[in-house]
Amino acid sequence: MSYLVLARKWRPKLFSEVVGQNHVVQALQNSILNEKINQAYIFNGTRGVGKTSIARILTKVLNCEDVKKGEPCDKCNQCLALNENSLIDFQEIDAASRRSREETMNLLETVPYLPASSKYKVYLIDEVHMLTKESFNALLKTLEEPPPHVIFMFATTEIEKVPATILSRCLQLNLRLVSEEEIIDQLSKIFIHENIKFDEASLKIISKAASGSMRDALTISEKVVSYCNEDLKKEDVQNVLGIPNEEKVFKLLDILKDKDTTALVSFFEDYDENDSCLNLLESLMNVIQEVSLLQFSKSQDSNLLKYTEMTPEYLQLIFQIGLSNKIYFESSSDPKGLLSMTLIKMIAFSPEEKKNFKVTSSNNSYKDSSFDWNLILNEIDFSVLLKQILFSSSVKKIDNKIIISLPEDKITRINEEYKKEISSCFNNYFNQILEISYDSNVEVDRTPLFIKDELKIKESNEAVDLISKDEGFKKITSELNTDIKNISKK
Ligand SMILES: [Zn+2]
Repeated sequence: MSYLVLARKWRPKLFSEVVGQNHVVQALQNSILNEKINQAYIFNGTRGVGKTSIARILTKVLNCEDVKKGEPCDKCNQCLALNENSLIDFQEIDAASRRSREETMNLLETVPYLPASSKYKVYLIDEVHMLTKESFNALLKTLEEPPPHVIFMFATTEIEKVPATILSRCLQLNLRLVSEEEIIDQLSKIFIHENIKFDEASLKIISKAASGSMRDALTISEKVVSYCNEDLKKEDVQNVLGIPNEEKVFKLLDILKDKDTTALVSFFEDYDENDSCLNLLESLMNVIQEVSLLQFSKSQDSNLLKYTEMTPEYLQLIFQIGLSNKIYFESSSDPKGLLSMTLIKMIAFSPEEKKNFKVTSSNNSYKDSSFDWNLILNEIDFSVLLKQILFSSSVKKIDNKIIISLPEDKITRINEEYKKEISSCFNNYFNQILEISYDSNVEVDRTPLFIKDELKIKESNEAVDLISKDEGFKKITSELNTDIKNISKK
């Protein structure tokens, strides 16, 4: 079959062929039917959603010799000339390449002349936001009093860069992203017409990859169709687009959910070197995002439901780790290694793993069964500032005597009021009248401050030790010729 690029062949020629912009098409057709013609239109929207296509159809309908129900006939000389790009009264300019004042002036000089064969002379300026300030000023003068035979159409992807003075003279039409369903509908229509075989899943993948742009959907289809030899299958489409298949992404999510390091090792043993590691990470993060959203929705109808048992905090954490490691992929010579380390990090820092380490560190030597100052300080309701000071103290209790030892600079801060507070708090806590004395013989390793820091270090060391001992991790890390202590520093 002779090939005309799909995107060009299937560019809409009539309003009824425009996909996903009903609100704009409707408004334009109504204005045609009511003969309310504006002299300046601005089409706003992201790339590939139909801005210039709609502008061209509008041009046709304005000049068509046989308009029916707000549609051009697409058969008269005017319509055919425009389709063939030979209509002299239609000028399409790309402001990205012709933005200077001179070029704009040259263009505007032609405005006063009557159209050669059409009713209206149409100037379509694409990417109009690229014009220089001087060009906009020149344009504004013409827009203030345009001759009745002239119509301006502007298209832009960045409307905020168009001066308000220009915008105020235009009918603004905002084009939206084309939905996945609309793209799927259109693609299946086109594929059937072109005798291209396809499965549902292929359409879904292409429409997702097009991100709301019908033109991108067609460009991607073009690429996929030639690769798949006009028979589109899900796996082939994923290959062409470098998209990892869903099973792989779910397998990774299972591994994270179950903290299954053995499965992680075999995942990388079977890893297909053709898969893009970055694409896999990105797909994983997309799913994590979907699971997070699902946790806050009432929907019970999702294949992701089983993952909602992961805590929102853990999902946030692994998303964050993915996000911060993503930047290293571009410069990495070993993306597979980087991906595996990213996943190890995600498991190693999970709250469950941390809990395990707490259990082992709870039998620490700081607990003195008779008098645990670290614990008591937490239980007594001291005022905030006093508690802060006492954080650096070591305390002993001998019979009815309490000895509070503090560094010199802290002792001076214990005023009479604090002394009263300390005395009443201790008396209440032990339910006896206690004799309290102060000195500066602090046993640093018994202060809550020290214990807290020490616990932190201990926990993190034990976490690292535990992971290092895990057979699965040993294998991965030896393959990667690195060790777990380096990951935790990342
Ligand atoms: Zn016509």
